[in-house]
Amino acid sequence: MNSATQPIHVIGGGLAGSEAAWQAAQAGARVVLHEMRPVQKTDAHQTESFAELVCSNSFRSDDAEHNAVGLLHEEMRRCGSLILGMADEHKLPAGGALAVDRDGFAAAVTAALEAHPNIAIAREEIAGLPPAEWENVIVATGPLTSPALAEVIRGLTGEDSLAFFDAIAPIIHYDSIDRNIVWAQSRYDKPGPAGTGADYLNCPMDEAQYNGFVDALLAAPLHAFKDWEKVPYFDGCLPIEVMAERGRETLRFGPMKPVGLTNPRNPDVKPYAIVQLRQDNALGSLWNMVGFQTKMRYGVQTEIFRMIPGLEQAQFARLGGLHRNTYLNSPRVLGPDLKLKAMPRLRFAGQVTGVEGYVESAAMGLIAGRMAAAETRGERLSAPPVTTALGALVNHITGGHVEAEGYAGAKSFQPMNVNFGLFPGVEVKKPEGVKRWRGTEKAMAKRKAITSRALDDLKAWA
Ligand SMILES: Cc1cc2nc3c(=O)[nH]c(=O)nc-3n(C[C@H](O)[C@H](O)[C@H](O)COP(=O)(O)OP(=O)(O)OC[C@H]3O[C@@H](n4cnc5c(N)ncnc54)[C@H](O)[C@@H]3O)c2cc1C
Repeated sequence: MNSATQPIHVIGGGLAGSEAAWQAAQAGARVVLHEMRPVQKTDAHQTESFAELVCSNSFRSDDAEHNAVGLLHEEMRRCGSLILGMADEHKLPAGGALAVDRDGFAAAVTAALEAHPNIAIAREEIAGLPPAEWENVIVATGPLTSPALAEVIRGLTGEDSLAFFDAIAPIIHYDSIDRNIVWAQSRYDKPGPAGTGADYLNCPMDEAQYNGFVDALLAAPLHAFKDWEKVPYFDGCLPIEVMAERGRETLRFGPMKPVGLTNPRNPDVKPYAIVQLRQDNALGSLWNMVGFQTKMRYGVQTEIFRMIPGLEQAQFARLGGLHRNTYLNSPRVLGPDLKLKAMPRLRFAGQVTGVEGYVESAAMGLIAGRMAAAETRGERLSAPPVTTALGALVNHITGGHVEAEGYAGAKSFQPMNVNFGLFPGVEVKKPEGVKRWRGTEKAMAKRKAITSRALDDLKAWA
């Protein structure tokens, strides 16, 4: 059979798989959508609907001018997204956010897929390698990919390339770090294979600051964990609050150790503890807090991390978290066309590619579905430009992330929401007649410039 007559097989009918199947079918391709529910359940899904929202019912901000996920919404609408279309039809009042009636939304997505003439639905688990005759496959099985399939994927990608357990450290926007306090230096000035000896940003603490910080960690409320999330953690990625519980000095001998570093502004005084930040993307706009995985509640994380000298004004691109998550080390194992380098007939989409969130997962489904459909016509579709939200996400998961020495593999590449740190920068000019341009106004102008450039640049691709 040639690829034009072959159907596209989409595995997983979640946010990504539903969107991928829809996009491919709308482009004229035949699609078989394989979903294991209700035959096999997951630990989080409650229904057999496609695109079930497992937790919150929010698609987050719908502000397409000043917010990166709002921009992603708009780009997806312009690409005829099923997920955004049905979200709009089933939206609930939620201020500036796009929140949906979860049952109405999922029922509408399910009905649309079932009614599409190009889509056949198979309620079955793909419990091993997809059959060899399936030449155009999209794997969109999500953070709770069934163990049988996960095992096969792990075999194809290498032992450490599929994380089953997600310890997420927060990520900070570079612009919000106080460069008058932090300094750039690698421990013992080691350049490593790709560094300069000044690759980390260091935030110094004195004894009183350290003790105050540990006290705050010990008092912090934690996320309530579901039973199935009570997984043992590896000693290598203990949450910081667990380390603090083990002893007041544990962090000072762990991720906050002050050795091999000298504060150039105060070289004679040894900091009592140091928090290190490591560059997270090639643009240098995002920095992660080294070893700072945590399961503290989101609100309190912001408060506590702003106690760290240099981070008083920190803006977080992503906060820390800890839950089971199956995702590929995509920068290593996927090509720019989202295909598995080790087996190119498999293309990946959704949270399993290392994006985080409903909208981002659906966005990857949108791209994978269009790419797979192009292939049935003998064409090759590139990802959208990196200046768009869709393109910035693809770029991050297939190349933008920087892997740091000693943190190779999935430990270094962590799931990411869309955010402005993933976009190439823009220059904005102070409007005529304005004497003093305040920081927030400038930031807003920058955001607007990024979003309007994105929508212009998307036109040709969409
Ligand atoms: C507990 C939990 C809470 C979350 N809360 C939020 C939240 O509040 N907001 C948010 O934005 N994101 C949240 N997420 C992340 C969320 O899972 C993703 O944003 C989104 O659902 C991912 O979409 P997806 O299509 O990649 O995966 P999913 O939506 O999970 O879809 C994957 C589908 O694949 C099916 N499947 C799995 N294995 C197989 C197989 N072998 N054969 C056939 N079918 C298979 C599953 O049944 C499922 O329907 C949460 C995740 C978890 C685990």
